[in-house]
Amino acid sequence: MPRVALHVDCKRCGTRFDTAIRTGAESFRRGSFIANYHRCPDCGVRETYRKADYRLTDARTGVPVEVISTGSPRAATVVPPVPETPPEHGE
Ligand SMILES: [Zn+2]
Repeated sequence: MPRVALHVDCKRCGTRFDTAIRTGAESFRRGSFIANYHRCPDCGVRETYRKADYRLTDARTGVPVEVISTGSPRAATVVPPVPETPPEHGE
């Protein structure tokens, strides 16, 4: 199970920052993160964040992880897998 870092987007200034919470993707999915306080390192505003507010990031690679669908328009950029089949050369 990959370790994930929980990031949030600041409700005041929009800066994405690391909440320093580390958990497993499955643990996060099952867990209830109802209201946690996090302080934005950029503007210093302390706000409560719910489970849907967290942006999961792979703790090792920093790559965004999609665990729950929140319908966020700021979804992570997903690179589609490159097909293994070579292009056909019709002659
Ligand atoms: Zn902020």
